[in-house]
Amino acid sequence: MGIDMHDGSAPPAAWQRAAAVTSPAELLSLLGLDPRLPALDFERRRDFPLRVPRGFVERMRRGDPHDPLFLQVWPATAEAAQAAGYAADAVGDLARLKQGGVIHKYRGRALLIATGACAVHCRYCFRRHFPYGDTLASRGGWRDALAQLEADASIEEVILSGGDPLSLADDKLSALVAGLERIPHVRRLRLHTRTAVVLPERVDEALTTWLTRTRLQKVVVLHVNHANEIDPAVTDAIARLRGCGATLLNQSVLLRRVNDSCETLALLSERLFDCGVLPYYLHLLDRVQGAEHFEVDETTGVRLMAELAARLPGYLVPRLARELPGAPAKTLLSW
Ligand SMILES: *Cc1c(COP(=O)(O)O)cnc(C)c1O
Ligand code: SF4
Repeated sequence: MGIDMHDGSAPPAAWQRAAAVTSPAELLSLLGLDPRLPALDFERRRDFPLRVPRGFVERMRRGDPHDPLFLQVWPATAEAAQAAGYAADAVGDLARLKQGGVIHKYRGRALLIATGACAVHCRYCFRRHFPYGDTLASRGGWRDALAQLEADASIEEVILSGGDPLSLADDKLSALVAGLERIPHVRRLRLHTRTAVVLPERVDEALTTWLTRTRLQKVVVLHVNHANEIDPAVTDAIARLRGCGATLLNQSVLLRRVNDSCETLALLSERLFDCGVLPYYLHLLDRVQGAEHFEVDETTGVRLMAELAARLPGYLVPRLARELPGAPAKTLLSW
């Protein structure tokens, strides 16, 4: 995995040169954590190694093995647990994935697996076992993906996902957008990205230029799980995205010990709104192998939502949702 390195056709952008921490020992040392602490035992997972941008490490509290940002990236030994009901493809996406990386599950919206790469490796991620190799939309200059989108006039919105679409270089992304603009029935472009949060320098001039120019309506759905992820650099990156004319939303995953309290969720919603971002979904964890230690059960999730609704204006309360294979939309668990 890792982010898309430049292919020699242009000098690498600053975000492509930014180094990530990939060594567990280095991460512990940066955070002043004692590797002998039992809580810090880890698994060396070659299939999904530690990966975290340095700027994100700087937002973690020093000396705290329970820091909510650290827990999201630390390859704990608990990942090796084989829990019943936890599968490699938790949401049934493989069955729906067409050649060209297109997943068309919901009416009017098609999702493109643009790339398998991510700037950060989130340990709870449901795509960690995805066999991306054969199916990426970016292969062959997007030809297969564009042909499929063109052939189905019901598709009005194209969602770029992954992995993280902002792992791709801007020449690839702007080529895709140019292709989408030539399809008359496509009206909206949505980006699902965590890179803009963990690596805010990714939102550079090359990106904002093509995003501003497109005729498509733009929605950017960020992925922030905890208010501590939002530092001044992230606030600025969000302002740049809004300056492109994009509507900004956020989706989070409800994660044990990371954000499973009303206080933490309320603070997150308020910080997001300070930056001009509305909370959209709070997802219950997809039951993916190796992520069981992050699970918050549905009853607790519903109770947290009731507490949150009693505390915040309605527009700051995200929708608690779970993805069930075969359903016509995300399944909402709170009103
Ligand atoms: C989540 C998802 C969407 C978008 O659903 P919204 O409810 O519109 O946010 C579209 N396609 C797929 C395959 C999805 O998983
Ligand atoms: S949650 Fe998003 S950013 Fe994190 S590893 Fe999964 S796809 Fe990548």
